[in-house]
Amino acid sequence: MKNEVLDSLLTPKSVAVVGASATPGKIGYSVMKNLIDGGYKGAIYPINPSAEEILGIKCYPSISDVSGSVDAAIITVPSKLVDGVTDEIGRKGVKGMIVITSGFSEVGNRDLELALVKKANSYGTRVLGPNIVGVLSNTDKFNGSFAPFLPLPGKASLVSQSGALLIALDAATYTRRVGFDKLISIGNMSDVDFADIVSWLDNDPNTSCITLYIEGFKDGRAFIDAARKASKPIIALKAGVSAHGAAAAASHTGSLAGAAKVYGAALQQAGVIQATDLDNLFDRTLALSQQPPMKGDNLLIITNGGGVGVLATDAAERSGLPLKFAPADVQLELKKHMPEFGSAKNPVDLTGMAGNDWYGDSVRYSFAHPWTEGLVVLYCETAITDPMQIAQAIKKAVDESGVKDKPITVSFVGGEKSEVAMRWLVENGIPAYGAPDVAVDAISSLREFSRMKALSAQTTEPCAAFDSEAAREVIRKARADGRDSLTEIEAKEVFSAYGMPVTSTELARTEDQAVALAKKIGFPVVMKIVSPDILHKSDAGGVKVNIKDETGVREAFKTIMKNAKEYKATADIHGIAVQEMAPWGTEVILGSVNDPTFGPTIMFGLGGIFVEVLKDVTFRVAPVADTQARRMLDEIRGAPILAGVRGEEARDREALSDVICQYSTMILDLKDEIAESDANPVLVYEHGSGLKVVDARIILKKK
Ligand code: ADP
Ligand code: MG
Repeated sequence: MKNEVLDSLLTPKSVAVVGASATPGKIGYSVMKNLIDGGYKGAIYPINPSAEEILGIKCYPSISDVSGSVDAAIITVPSKLVDGVTDEIGRKGVKGMIVITSGFSEVGNRDLELALVKKANSYGTRVLGPNIVGVLSNTDKFNGSFAPFLPLPGKASLVSQSGALLIALDAATYTRRVGFDKLISIGNMSDVDFADIVSWLDNDPNTSCITLYIEGFKDGRAFIDAARKASKPIIALKAGVSAHGAAAAASHTGSLAGAAKVYGAALQQAGVIQATDLDNLFDRTLALSQQPPMKGDNLLIITNGGGVGVLATDAAERSGLPLKFAPADVQLELKKHMPEFGSAKNPVDLTGMAGNDWYGDSVRYSFAHPWTEGLVVLYCETAITDPMQIAQAIKKAVDESGVKDKPITVSFVGGEKSEVAMRWLVENGIPAYGAPDVAVDAISSLREFSRMKALSAQTTEPCAAFDSEAAREVIRKARADGRDSLTEIEAKEVFSAYGMPVTSTELARTEDQAVALAKKIGFPVVMKIVSPDILHKSDAGGVKVNIKDETGVREAFKTIMKNAKEYKATADIHGIAVQEMAPWGTEVILGSVNDPTFGPTIMFGLGGIFVEVLKDVTFRVAPVADTQARRMLDEIRGAPILAGVRGEEARDREALSDVICQYSTMILDLKDEIAESDANPVLVYEHGSGLKVVDARIILKKK
């Protein structure tokens, strides 16, 4: 979808610099100088009431004095003057404000920022920033920023929430030889946010990869939507994973849901590739911006040295692309381009005797072979070969192969000559790296891209029908009681309104009632304290399992009551729940938090000791459709336990993924009601035998 307002903001044909200055050292001066030095071809209108001209360009007292039209206004005046100029800008019909000025919400002046956006938007003007470095674009030779020069030209575009980092990375594009078309500083994101820019860059013909440095989103779901819809690769480095969102830990889920985990899950669901650090962000950006996605897992490695071949093989395994032997016809052909002692299996070892021709012939043949889905070419500098000639042979072979829909990356290990040769390769569209594992990691990001696109394209249909009204009625009653947590019995009623199988549970207020209920349900039974003041029932001695007869029920009733009163004398005790005793099964935990950024988020993991000690859990932002649910089951370290180990039957993973889907439907549907919840444990049975929720907890949002 075309967005003309953002076109004006990010690729303006004319700009005004509000607060332009003739005094070196001032930001209003730097922006003017950078626009001129960058070679910007559009009209530049410096605005300053006390100057005739700035750097040889006619100056205007106010933007309303400019006769031509203005696409974007770059704001460098102090924050207290911004409100006044916004009116002039709006009346002039300027579509975009690039607000470099700081002193807004980042220093606590939230109201000033809100007022700015409100006023600008009332004129149909969008605000980038405030508190930003600016916007840089090689295509437009537009350096509308105080970063001193445009980045090394390339096909990626970077959006950075940190201004200082953007300036540093701008300079680093030259030393790291990773090119960018645009650098966009996003600052306080008062109006234009990551979601807007991702959508816009996805339509920008000069951007092939969207690179993000993220500290935090304002609206996580808007970002997920925008990223999911994008067709270009998006790679993100997320910083600041320790500070945010320490939700009150009333449930296990609350304490396990760190920001890192929820962000990681959300980015994955959005189809965003993640970088582990700045190096990784650059390395992967290079490959993603220059090469097509890798459509399958068949990775071929060609090398002239065993050592780098082994390093690359290890890296391939780490990256989820374990090497397979090349098919017989490939081996047969490649054998022609190596000495007797070479290996054509995979990695293909041409040996140290390999020269330009062997490299060229084997690359040309194997890249074009239908089996190959990605190619990594490694080279160790030798005394008998010239790195530049090898580089040229590789490039020529790639061109002659005619292949355009498979990725290739290269690594040369050596000295200065290798560096020069790799630079040449990169300039000619082939990503090249100083270490074999980095070349493999880079190509694996292209595989990840196509895998994630396939996944995020899948629809997120809600699961089976549910009875929202029944659930809300239970919640209404608890609220009317003045409570903000549900008892186990109530929580199970809510769970079953969404189709989840729970143990049938009823409340007994007296010993005799308990006996009657136990007889009705059938022995053995489980008895548990029911009190809104006792959330962790076992801790209070409030759970008795495997009760076999009437005497047992009477004894358990007395003991549980006594224990509960000892545990908390003031506890409001509703009675004792009598429930069917579920047969033993594998214990898993499901839970939810209402994340401040992403909203309802579901957690899954192995229960019992696994969740307490190993924290072996995984997250997704709701809703979670079938395929994502199944991926959650595979993601935890304990996955083999569900798949069936050592002759044990596999657990009912289908039933479990259905329940994950139902649970996510519940927390989304009740997002205004539920703050946190868990089902701990859920007992999962053998394949085909389903599962049972035996304990349920729901904590309501405070109203
Ligand atoms: P809490 O978590 O509040 O301490 P639970 O209801 O989870 O209390 O009960 C503690 C343990 O008792 C559970 O982890 C489970 O192993 C067992 N248990 C509870 N209810 C049942 C049941 N209906 N059938 C079988 N086992 C149960
Ligand atoms: Mg429990």
